[in-house]
Amino acid sequence: MEDKQNTFLVSLRSIVQDVQSASSFDKAISILVERLRDATKVDCCSIYLINNRKTYLRLEATVGLQRDSVGKATLAVGEGLVGLVAQKQEIVNLADAPSHPNFKYLPDVGEDEFLSFLGVPVINQGELLGVLVIQCKEKRLFGEREEAFLITLSAQIASTISLNRSTKEIDDFNCKRYKGKTGSGSIAIAQAVVWKPPVTFDTIHIMYSDDKEIQSELFHQTIFQLQTEMDRAALHLQESSHEAAASGYMSSYGSMLDDLSFEDDVDEEIFSNGYVAASAIKVVATRRIEEADKRGDTDKSHDIRDFASILISRLVHLSPTESDITSPIVLVVKSMPVAIVAEIPRDKVVGFVCVDNATSSHTTILARDLGIPAVIDVNLDLNEVDGRTIIVDGQNAEVLVDPISSVVDEYMQLISQTRHQHELFEAEKYEKGITLDGERINIQLNAGLNNQDDDDLSEQTDGIGLYRTEIAFMLCQNLPSEETQLGWYKTLLERFKDKPVCMRTLDIGGDKGLTYLPIDDQNPALGFRGIRVCIDQPNIIKTQLKAMLLANKDLGNLEIMLPMVSRLEEVIIVKRILNESIHEIEVDLGCAIKKPRFGVMIEVPCIAFIMEELAKLCDFFSIGSNDLIQYLFAADRSNPKVSKIFDPFNPAAVRCFKYLADKSAQVERPLAVCGEIAGSPMGALMLLSLGYKTLSMNYSQIARVKYIVRHVNLEELKEIGKIALTLDSPDQIRALYREYAKKVDLEKIIDLKKFN
Ligand code: PEP
Ligand code: MG
Repeated sequence: MEDKQNTFLVSLRSIVQDVQSASSFDKAISILVERLRDATKVDCCSIYLINNRKTYLRLEATVGLQRDSVGKATLAVGEGLVGLVAQKQEIVNLADAPSHPNFKYLPDVGEDEFLSFLGVPVINQGELLGVLVIQCKEKRLFGEREEAFLITLSAQIASTISLNRSTKEIDDFNCKRYKGKTGSGSIAIAQAVVWKPPVTFDTIHIMYSDDKEIQSELFHQTIFQLQTEMDRAALHLQESSHEAAASGYMSSYGSMLDDLSFEDDVDEEIFSNGYVAASAIKVVATRRIEEADKRGDTDKSHDIRDFASILISRLVHLSPTESDITSPIVLVVKSMPVAIVAEIPRDKVVGFVCVDNATSSHTTILARDLGIPAVIDVNLDLNEVDGRTIIVDGQNAEVLVDPISSVVDEYMQLISQTRHQHELFEAEKYEKGITLDGERINIQLNAGLNNQDDDDLSEQTDGIGLYRTEIAFMLCQNLPSEETQLGWYKTLLERFKDKPVCMRTLDIGGDKGLTYLPIDDQNPALGFRGIRVCIDQPNIIKTQLKAMLLANKDLGNLEIMLPMVSRLEEVIIVKRILNESIHEIEVDLGCAIKKPRFGVMIEVPCIAFIMEELAKLCDFFSIGSNDLIQYLFAADRSNPKVSKIFDPFNPAAVRCFKYLADKSAQVERPLAVCGEIAGSPMGALMLLSLGYKTLSMNYSQIARVKYIVRHVNLEELKEIGKIALTLDSPDQIRALYREYAKKVDLEKIIDLKKFN
């Protein structure tokens, strides 16, 4: 008995592992049905998945039924036995399926020979995803063990299916829809061109040569050639006003090109071990990648791999050239080295799709800065998409392959709608954020992430509500000096001369790491991050505060804000360091300097209970809603598995926003919101309705939110806010704001879901 139980568990575990580690979704479900059939020794095993609108199920993988019917055979919910399992969301176990009243004969599926049927629903977080079925030729009822096996397996693979199903959603439009992890830019529609370097870092063989001098010469020539090309690419970026991109680009590869020890190491491998240049590069790079991986520095390891790949491809003359690209295309690549992005002719490449995960590498920053619609970490098969029509939806991190004409039309319409809306927003971008009933709302900028190269940015905003200083730190190779930081901060304060500029002290840890200050946390979100790091290393924050104070010396528009505060002591310590810094600067300069306003971010929920005490220590509060919601619901902000739980429209979140607004009014401290919710159309409506008057957001959201503010009536919205606080489901709350948006003719902007 125990033995059987063990076999049961072992095969269950091994099926789950194989499904989870499959290289694509199609492979995962094929493995699932094959392994399940073998484990249960049945004649047929199939999986049906439900479409987005939850109206029908489609056969997606089978062993036993006709393979031709995969992707074709469909049953409505409630139709046939599979439809019955879906409708009832219950197991159906039948010895003689064809005699059941719900049995539906589907021609061409090849089901005729099977009599017994066992179907279980596949459900993840309450959502039906599909139906898993086993069938036998003989007439017999499946036993308890088989039922238990299927139910357990279905529960265990449900989250994998849910996650990856969106990489190939069972679409209502008959095209393949893949979900990526990160997107940027808007929408592009064009033909996909897959770029595959014939020789890659991974595939290059280790080869030897006796011509050591020649190999070394070849290597140095390539380095020189690459240096020249990179200088040209960086210049090109600078000329097209993409300075941040240029600096990210240069800092990632420039340092490697300048790293003489890399060249020495490669020479050493050529001369001592007799490797050809490309092999020597691979050997040295592999060593460095391993070192970086050991330190947990994945960005560095990506950069080294990219850099080595480029060198290798140059050595074997296999890099893409301009002539390879003939018309506007969407470039699809396995991995996207920065150099490829930077060198691609902008007029020819209208979108990017990258299979590998590069979310935190410079590539994503660069793609975002260049404003090209891009989707990263998409689990698609490169061979399948080459030459196909492809839609890159950067806003929703989605890629659609081979869309039928009605889908293309829908997206074209979206593009034109966006363009039309963009014109509306543009027309009012210099106006003030004043509601129809005359209430002034501050619309501020979140800076640091994007490259805002609009000269008159300060004219369009009410200052900077959040400057993420860590982004500039992330682009450095080591801790920036006071002087370097002084330069950054002064430029920003001068650019927004007569407006407040709220600089957040270094917020590292969590999902933001510094290569030169690695933090090895088991649970980074709850670990050593934000102000905790700075208090542990007071010299870091003191240098930063001094640089900020000095930059502000003649300007006076600086505000300083602390991230991830969870205790009063933290604020007291930083205030002491701030006062010391002010004192030291004043002694040095021999005169008094302007004191910045000082604020605390509300990101950790416990702050709600110490606001009175905090109010005595600070001048203002700002809600970092991304972290606040993450900690409020204990749901990782970047984990798609819990994205439904991370919901700012959940009644608990709405009531929390209201509580904080009331509490800050009571302690007489202004309160802003600078998380993503402030820049989303419906989020902005919700915050306004709860009494918020300062919203800070990314550049791309400013004009749209301003337009919304200028077309609502605050008194009316406040009434809506009161109703929202009485509702008990996120859907009801969203519907309420949507209803209001409809009333004031903002429905299209709110409901243009793809851009929310
Ligand atoms: C936030 O948490 O909402 C916030 C603004 O900070 P970040 O997204 O940089 O953590
Ligand atoms: Mg935060």
